[in-house]
Amino acid sequence: MARDLAIDLGTANTLVYMKQTGIILNEPTVIALNTRNGEVLAMGQEAWQMIGRTPGYIVAVRPLRQGAITDFDVTQRMIRLILQRAGVGRFPRPRVLICVPSAITEVEKRAVEEAALRAGARGAYLIEQPLAAAIGANLPINEPVGSMVVDVGGGTTEVAIISLGGIVTLKAIRVGGFDIDAAIQNYVRAEYTMAIGERTSEDIKIAIGSAEPDVVDVRVEVRGRDLVAGLPRHVQLDPDEVRRAIEEPVAAICEATIDALSECPPELSQDILIQGIHLTGGGGLLKGMVERLAREAHVPVQLTPQPLETVVLGAGRCLEAFDSLHSMFMCA
Ligand code: ADP
Ligand code: MG
Repeated sequence: MARDLAIDLGTANTLVYMKQTGIILNEPTVIALNTRNGEVLAMGQEAWQMIGRTPGYIVAVRPLRQGAITDFDVTQRMIRLILQRAGVGRFPRPRVLICVPSAITEVEKRAVEEAALRAGARGAYLIEQPLAAAIGANLPINEPVGSMVVDVGGGTTEVAIISLGGIVTLKAIRVGGFDIDAAIQNYVRAEYTMAIGERTSEDIKIAIGSAEPDVVDVRVEVRGRDLVAGLPRHVQLDPDEVRRAIEEPVAAICEATIDALSECPPELSQDILIQGIHLTGGGGLLKGMVERLAREAHVPVQLTPQPLETVVLGAGRCLEAFDSLHSMFMCA
C-alpha cells in the first residue's frame, strides 16, 4: 500500500505530510510556466527564484493567490508535480487528503478532487483548512466547546469558530500577508518614489513590520530602483512608518476576527473568552499581531506552536487516524 498523503495547498506555501513519516515537502506555492507551450518548468523554491528574473515568455504563477483555484490546468499540473515529488507513480497510488479554504465553492471542490485523481491519487478527500488547523493545534474540536482559529495566510485570512467537529461561524476574507507586502511596496513607491520587488517588501515586513507600536526598534536599509532617475538607490525605513503603511490590511484581519466573534452563538463566545483565540498561519507571525488581536477582541490570543505547519500537521493527524477522523472530511 502507498502511504497516504496530506497536502496543504496554501496560497503562499504548499506542504505535504506523508503518513507515518511527517512533513516531506514545504515549498512556496509557485510554478514557472512557459507561456509558449504551457510547459511547467519548475515549481516551489526553484520557480520562486525565477519571479521577476525571467524572460517574457516564462511566467511565475501563484495559482492559488486568491485562496482557491483560479486556473484548473495549472493547479492540476501542480498537484501532479507534488505527487511526483512525493514518489507517486513509482509506488502504488496513495489516498490524498487536501486542505482547502472553507469558502471554496462546489465547483472548485470538484476541481481539486478531480485534479488529485487525474494526477494519480487513488482517492481524494478534502478537509477545510480551519478544521485542520484546529486539529493541528490540539483543540478539543469534537467536544461541545467553542474553539476559535484565526489563520492568516498569504492571500486569505480565515476565522472559524468550531464546535462538535464542525465550523459554526466562518469569516473568510481575501486579505493576508500578500496584501501587507503590497502595502509596503505602495508606500515605498509613494513616499520615496522608489520601486521595490515583491520579495523585498516581504523581507521588510518580516524584519520590521508590526501590528502594534513599539514592538520593533531597528531600521532597515532597502534597495530599489528610483522611479524618476531609473537608477538603483537605497533608503532607510523605520518600523513606525512601516506599521502605519500596513495598517489597512492589519485592521481588516482584526475586523474579520471581531465580526466572527460578534456573529457566534453566545454560549460559544463564553467558551472563547476562556479558551482564547488560536492564531496561526505565517501572517500570525507578524510582530505585535497577538497583542493587537487580544487588545481589539478583548480575548486572550495565543500563537500555535508551528504556525506555518499547523494545518498540514492537523491533516496529518487525520491520516494517522483516518477511520476515526474521516467524518471531518468534506464530500466534494
Ligand atoms: P498560506 O497558508 O496562505 O500558504 P502561510 O500560512 O504559509 O500562507 O503564510 C504565508 C504568509 O506568512 C506570507 O505572506 C509570509 O510573508 C507571511 N509570513 C511568514 N513569516 C512571517 C513573519 N515572520 N512575519 C510576518 N509574516 C510572515
Ligand atoms: Mg494556510
